[in-house]
Amino acid sequence: DLRIQGIKKMIRVVPDFPKPGIMFQDITTLLLDAGAFKDTVDMFVERYKDRNISVVADSFVINYLTIETREGIEARGFIFGPPIALAIGAKFVPLRKPGKLPGKLMSEKYVLEYGSDCLQMHIGAVEPDDRALVVDDLVATGGTLCAAINLLERAGAQVVECACVIELPDLKGREKLKGKPLYVLVESH
Ligand code: 5GP
Repeated sequence: DLRIQGIKKMIRVVPDFPKPGIMFQDITTLLLDAGAFKDTVDMFVERYKDRNISVVADSFVINYLTIETREGIEARGFIFGPPIALAIGAKFVPLRKPGKLPGKLMSEKYVLEYGSDCLQMHIGAVEPDDRALVVDDLVATGGTLCAAINLLERAGAQVVECACVIELPDLKGREKLKGKPLYVLVESH
């Protein structure tokens, strides 16, 4: 698909951000290109529009990067999930860090490279008959997607697939998804 080339071209790779050794995949440059941004959402919508997805879940987190720079980077979440949900007629459910959601919550702890973290979801946001798509900008170790899958399954939903713009395949996150399929647009090494 020619669109993939355009999407890949608009992702900026920033060496040593937020700390030495990390090749940060910056999707803000993709968002600056209205055509490439639309192509990204369209490709997911084309894939999921006829699959009876009733809920799109997206997280608002960052993992190993948070240790020093949590606040700035956190604002990157919820970019791709909501437009996909709107276009396919599904509800949108945010998955968040502790202390951010006001209602009754379910929590799922997960292990990081240095320590652990937690994702939370409102009880009742997802129902037992829901068919869920989990969306994130990037899959690295798979820890975040795995926690999201666990939360959705504990709420009784069926996780149909995980969808990310970028995969870092060397980190083998794909193997941590409890057998759920993972669809990505771009691989980065
Ligand atoms: P994982 O849980 O798979 O190790 O990490 C994935 C999470 O970290 C995603 O929520 C993603 O937004 C964030 N993340 C990790 N590294 C990067 C990166 O290089 N670029 C971007 N955009 N997000 C990253």
